[in-house]
Amino acid sequence: MAQNKVQYQHGFSLDEFYQKFGTEQQCEEELERTRWPEGFKCPQCGSKSYGVIHDKRRKRYQCKSCRHQASLTAGTIFESTKLALRTWFQAIYMISQAKTGISALSLKRYLGVSYPTSWKIRHKLMHAMKQRDDRYLLSGIVQMDDAYLGGELNGGKAGRGSENKVPFVAAVQFDSENHPLRIKMNQVKGFTSKAILDWAQGHIILGSTVITDGLACFNAVTDAGCKHIAKVVGGLKPKDLPLFQWLNTILGNVKTGLSGTYHAFKFGKYGNRYMGEIAYRFNRRFHLQSLHQRLLVASVACAPCPERLLRSAEDCC
Ligand SMILES: [Zn+2]
Repeated sequence: MAQNKVQYQHGFSLDEFYQKFGTEQQCEEELERTRWPEGFKCPQCGSKSYGVIHDKRRKRYQCKSCRHQASLTAGTIFESTKLALRTWFQAIYMISQAKTGISALSLKRYLGVSYPTSWKIRHKLMHAMKQRDDRYLLSGIVQMDDAYLGGELNGGKAGRGSENKVPFVAAVQFDSENHPLRIKMNQVKGFTSKAILDWAQGHIILGSTVITDGLACFNAVTDAGCKHIAKVVGGLKPKDLPLFQWLNTILGNVKTGLSGTYHAFKFGKYGNRYMGEIAYRFNRRFHLQSLHQRLLVASVACAPCPERLLRSAEDCC
């Protein structure tokens, strides 16, 4: 049997990781390279002339033009952290190399930190992944479906009309050979025309073609400037159509991954963040070897997110 090229690609081995990022100094140098690839640049005035101040924790940069002081972590998702950068790098390594993610509980054990700390690390990195992935919109041929997650863990009916479940939109962009390129999954308030219009305007490029199973609210994508093709075949459930095979496979993997790795979490509150992580990982599935570096870039590019915001539902709609 042919090997699956996603499953069998080379990753970033533990040995390689420790050779490159085993010490605090190595992590500091890598963070500096990632943040300022062409050397330090003052965030206040743009000057490249600076001096270095070493305090107890980590070095700071002082601009020689405007005297502004900047730290390596200020303005990034790592801002105000008391943890060693090595711990963050290890978390990024584990999260980026694990096929279906890693729970905060496992992370706590591997990193040797408390559960509240591992929860914060986990959610900050998920937030960074979601922020990064939100920069890209779907275009071309997009297949879209309604889905529900969360309630099945407590029993209850499946699919539309079920209780205690969180509705979300799942969409896949295909290439010309019908292979999936990118996915997006986001919670919606419900399957209404207004919710679908809002979602399409924020996530699909104008002029794309959207294929659905014909649920009435999906017509709203035309108001967002997209072409809508409703595939409804009498006698067959829309989900059984070969056309929807990829979407069904992806949704099946999402459900298995979430229930296997995370067991229980407040889906209504944090579902968007978890699905953002799954989409981030899927959309970069051919780049396992560089995923650590990519997640570091995403973390540096992500504005600080204090715990108060992390625990609010701001990612969730
Ligand atoms: Zn300056």
